[in-house]
Amino acid sequence: MTATDVADVVVVGAGVIGLTSALALAQSGLRVAVVADRLPADTVSAIAAAIWEPYDAYPKDLVLRWSVESLARFTELAADPDTGVAQREGVVLQRVPGRTAWWAGDVVAARAARPDELVDGAVSGEVCTVPVIVMPIYLEWLLASCVREGVVFEWRSLKSLDDVGHGDCPIVVAAGLVAGELTGDTRLVPVRGQIVRVANPGLTRWYIDEDNARGCTYVIPRADDVICGGTNEPGVTDRTPDSAVAQSILAAASKLEPRLVDAAVLADVVGLRPGRDEVRLDVGEHAGRRVVHSYGHGGAGVTTSWGVAGDVVRLVSEGRAGVTER
Ligand SMILES: Cc1cc2nc3c(=O)[nH]c(=O)nc-3n(C[C@H](O)[C@H](O)[C@H](O)COP(=O)(O)OP(=O)(O)OC[C@H]3O[C@@H](n4cnc5c(N)ncnc54)[C@H](O)[C@@H]3O)c2cc1C
Repeated sequence: MTATDVADVVVVGAGVIGLTSALALAQSGLRVAVVADRLPADTVSAIAAAIWEPYDAYPKDLVLRWSVESLARFTELAADPDTGVAQREGVVLQRVPGRTAWWAGDVVAARAARPDELVDGAVSGEVCTVPVIVMPIYLEWLLASCVREGVVFEWRSLKSLDDVGHGDCPIVVAAGLVAGELTGDTRLVPVRGQIVRVANPGLTRWYIDEDNARGCTYVIPRADDVICGGTNEPGVTDRTPDSAVAQSILAAASKLEPRLVDAAVLADVVGLRPGRDEVRLDVGEHAGRRVVHSYGHGGAGVTTSWGVAGDVVRLVSEGRAGVTER
């Protein structure tokens, strides 16, 4: 008998969606097993910048609800430096008159940027404070928290959901971009994102410049490094960093924050976001087992993770109503 045979629920995936769901399920009192073929540090989640921003994930109303719920949780976690979460102030720059960040104001307190806080070409901006999450640290914290709650991990690859194990408990599919191969879902689309990680010359303030002429550009200072981005290329699967793109990212980032001009480049990185026209968070069935799908979080998997995990717990628990405790 393996852990997956005796668990109350099996989660497939150990990225931010799988780990957060596993932790929330364990904290709800269930015996949880996680199956994944990549350690958290090797997932797309580890590449995320990661700033709390409901970016490129749909439908917007649900994404906003999940993001708001997650914001509350990340705000609590920011009190503990071991989590890798910190609250940081920054500026959402606007180059189109009248445009504002759709989520700022109601959800996150924001004030209008002063002229000296803008860059050339920006006509306005919103200054606000949101969580910035150092993903390698945060994923390790999530993993350790899961282990403390009794979650058991099996590091292996599944060819299909038949490989999960012999039990009949619910399965949560949180396999990111690969979820489609396990479920037959053809609506997942890789969305290539390239970033440049540089040494931090002492920055704390982030910038998001979605309407930059070279494409969405951002500067996210973390602790020792700064993530400069980026690209958003639906349907592109090449994981090799493009040096010309890296140069254009750095040039644009340096215009937002001139102290980046001489910053040492630590790494050029590419990740494939799990894009989908809508996040899939629903219940299905496989060989008589309840399957909760949770994937397709696009550019906002970190931002939505706690809200999503709350819904996963609810959908798993609904299926267990009437199940006798073992
Ligand atoms: C450059 C870049 C910057 C980003 N910045 C941000 C940001 O600032 N804020 C934000 O919120 N989001 C950001 N994102 C998006 C975010 O990274 C994703 O939405 C999120 O990581 C998706 O998490 P996931 O757990 O669904 O998938 P993944 O992290 O890909 O994890 C999938 C898991 O499933 C497992 N798995 C898959 N197939 C199988 C199989 N067949 N058998 C066993 N296990 C399997 C893998 O091993 C892995 O553990 C960014 C993404 C990129 C690329």
